[in-house]
Amino acid sequence: MGVSPGRAAGPMIRMAGPPELPSPRAVADPGAEAAAVAKALQAVSADLGLRAAAAQGEAAEILEALAMIADDPMLLEDAEGRARDGMDAAHALEAAFTGHREALAALGGYLAERAADLDDLKHRAVAFALDLPMPGLPAPGHPYVLVAEDLSPADTAGLGQDVLALVTERGGPTSHTAILARGRGLPAVVACAGVMDLPDGTVVGVDGGTGEVAAGLSAQEAAEVMAAARAERRRLAESRGPGGTADGHPVKLLLNIGSAEDLRPGAEGVGLFRTEFLFLDRTRAPSFEEQVAAYAQVFGNEEHVIVRTLDAGTDKPLPFLGLPREDNPALGVRGLRVDRVLPAVLDTQLDAIAEAARATGARPWVMAPMVTTVAEAGDFSRRAREKGIVTVGAMIEVPAAALRAGRLLRELDFLSIGTNDLAQYTFAADRQHSTLTDLLDPRQPALLELIAICARAGREAGKPVGVCGEAAGDPVLAPLLVGLGVTSLSMAAVSVPAVREALAALTLEECRARARTALD
Ligand code: PEP
Ligand code: MG
Repeated sequence: MGVSPGRAAGPMIRMAGPPELPSPRAVADPGAEAAAVAKALQAVSADLGLRAAAAQGEAAEILEALAMIADDPMLLEDAEGRARDGMDAAHALEAAFTGHREALAALGGYLAERAADLDDLKHRAVAFALDLPMPGLPAPGHPYVLVAEDLSPADTAGLGQDVLALVTERGGPTSHTAILARGRGLPAVVACAGVMDLPDGTVVGVDGGTGEVAAGLSAQEAAEVMAAARAERRRLAESRGPGGTADGHPVKLLLNIGSAEDLRPGAEGVGLFRTEFLFLDRTRAPSFEEQVAAYAQVFGNEEHVIVRTLDAGTDKPLPFLGLPREDNPALGVRGLRVDRVLPAVLDTQLDAIAEAARATGARPWVMAPMVTTVAEAGDFSRRAREKGIVTVGAMIEVPAAALRAGRLLRELDFLSIGTNDLAQYTFAADRQHSTLTDLLDPRQPALLELIAICARAGREAGKPVGVCGEAAGDPVLAPLLVGLGVTSLSMAAVSVPAVREALAALTLEECRARARTALD
């Protein structure tokens, strides 16, 4: 399944998963096992130290902190002790890390938040002891196609410039990994069964539009793919101008971004600034000043910006929030609901947005994710306006909110429909599921019906209602959404040219006819 358009070709490298611990081994020489334990911890620390030296800013700090944990003399003493008592090196490391993790988690607060880091270190140390490839992102020193069972949003956000394309065995089209790939303009294919069985170094061609992955290309064929991809990128980069139908009905074409780095010319503003993407890997809360700087960087470069307050949860955990694990996280404390347990987080963020607006002279629109009831919309609206934010809205991602769109608009200035979550919650199908994609298909009439309710409410209230889910960037769906009455479409920069072309080819009445047909 292609999830991020574009083509690329090159040698593939698989990302190793966590090592599987074999059954315990009978130990002949406990001293040798203790020495192997020490060597593994040293190797992990040295590797992280090297990566820290090559990284910058926040990433470098995190890597340095991890290297220090791997160097902890108490951890070494514990693991060596277990080895001398007769455990093999891998099991001694596993047991020592597990003990330390539990001790940290029991302390609570900041230290408990670091407990997850220990798992990563443990996997690395155990892999070294077992002579398996180090888990984590590869760094081969040349461009490559990254192949993985699955990737986390944090992995994807941390990808270097040497990654040509992504292919994963699992994942769905609206998973946040797919969204991040699209934001970076990186061709990506998900749900590609069997790709992890290909050996590293196989030259693969990836088409992130059609979802085709061709294995065993010659160097000549790979070079041809790369040349064609460059030419296509140049052609698309030249597409400009406001969005609209053939008969001049305007439809704002906006960008979905995760940071100022995703801004590109050629759109009419930002329709969704996913602020949580700035802080995916953080174990400590971003400060007010840091937030002001990150928001001001966007506000200073784009006139019309819709900022979404932090949307944490399910596949986008924000470690610094320290939220407890949930059995059913997609239906739990996520998005605006985090405010119920940690109100200071939203207060600080709204203050930071207001300050960044003052500093840059911008007038950002601000919206909350996962709004469910009119009462929640009213509360968010009041809080944001108290901070001096003038234009306040909500994402429509929960069917309950879509059904009450008219009432929500009494409290709010605009709505933005998040079709990714709205599909997940309407069809009761996990958006990351790789075999339920028919149920997540945004062309499903039940979803279109909910969009039509929102658009109608917007028309009656005279307020804008846009779509910022991945459906907005689909050139087949975009005219249909316009036919349903939405006023703007927000998408990754790579999708804008094709959507612009699709709209310009049809009149508003033709878009409406498509919408009617789809609903029927
Ligand atoms: C959505 O749910 O459609 C949306 C735009 O938000 P996100 O994909 O970040 O959950
Ligand atoms: Mg969402």
